[in-house]
Amino acid sequence: MRTFDKKTLYKNAHIIDPAQGIDAIGALLVEGDTISAIGSSITVDRDTEIIDLKGYLLTPGWIDIHSHVFDTVGDFCLPADVVGVHSGITTVADAGTSGLLTFNAFRETVVKPSKTRVYALLDPSLLYIATSDFIAHRLGFATSPKNQDMERAAAVIEENRDIVVGFKVRPTLKSGASSSPVMDTALPLAEKYDLPIMVHLGRFPADEVLPTEVLLKLLRPGDIITHAYQPRHGLYDAEGNLLPAAKTAIDRGVFLDVGHSGNDFSFKTARSGLAQGILPDTISTDLNCFNIDIIGSLALTMTKFMALGLSLTQVIERVTINPAKALRKTDEIGSLKPGLTADFTLAEQVDETAQLQDGNGGTLSVSQILKVRGVCRAGKFSWIDQMPFDEEMEPEAVLANSQ
Ligand SMILES: [Zn+2]
Repeated sequence: MRTFDKKTLYKNAHIIDPAQGIDAIGALLVEGDTISAIGSSITVDRDTEIIDLKGYLLTPGWIDIHSHVFDTVGDFCLPADVVGVHSGITTVADAGTSGLLTFNAFRETVVKPSKTRVYALLDPSLLYIATSDFIAHRLGFATSPKNQDMERAAAVIEENRDIVVGFKVRPTLKSGASSSPVMDTALPLAEKYDLPIMVHLGRFPADEVLPTEVLLKLLRPGDIITHAYQPRHGLYDAEGNLLPAAKTAIDRGVFLDVGHSGNDFSFKTARSGLAQGILPDTISTDLNCFNIDIIGSLALTMTKFMALGLSLTQVIERVTINPAKALRKTDEIGSLKPGLTADFTLAEQVDETAQLQDGNGGTLSVSQILKVRGVCRAGKFSWIDQMPFDEEMEPEAVLANSQ
């Protein structure tokens, strides 16, 4: 069968694959939907299509582990392919906009029809619906123990092990309660199925959350803190120093994810974290309908971190092999190793000045911008001339919350 696969050689690209320690001009051979060779020069036969990528950066397909793409329910999410392949992202993880009762709809209306590979960080509650008016919080079901059903959660996970890669927990609780019902459900399930928990750091308009220091103690190695540079309810004290409980969690092996969002990220907090050696393990957007103007894209979020001091290789590592490790999917994504599905992102570093914003009133001047130029998903390559939200980038900050 393989002899009939279409063969394409992508040559002369600047290949950066941190997982394999590759940073060189080279070539990538794709047969059908699979990477078959990578190297400085690859000999091919006459029926191989050749695409010259001189001047472009070719990396493993980018992964956004904090996105909201359940756009068929509620009014909060964006279409998976808009956040995904149309923006040069080959894999997204929906961070808790699906719950148990809506999971089948998520699989049928989002995962199946999307070109982008879509994983779920499942909210293990019976019902979670992400809306612009935070209905799950206003109606009280985000804090209700009646919204938890351990057996049903186990059944949904067992039926969907191919797409459930972990849990997303907003550690909400009723006023005066000492524990968070959703966290109480997630912890034993995460142990049983050996899955990571991504926790939201910050507040919700209508709900209390576990105090950060209490939450941090519950996290296990491999769990993920998103909104790691949250300026108000995060990992730092009022002077910007890392909390001792956060240091203990990081030393224990808890991952830090950016989860940019509308107002859960600030340049000031990121600068202070980076100055203390607190680098993110993964860079993600938390893109949803209400923060497009601030975030724009994963590429722009990476651009911000380069302007804050990370190298090109460091930001690529944080959208390729590191998120693959966080989602425990290194056998499928995050690298250009022969045998893996041919997912890659084509980008370019362009000399261009811009004022970027953090959603909290902070601005950052950049003189180089990372721009996506193409994407290959499962062997299908396309050039990207226009990113979905390029036109909508506005200078004013629009305050938006994250979920
Ligand atoms: Zn989110």
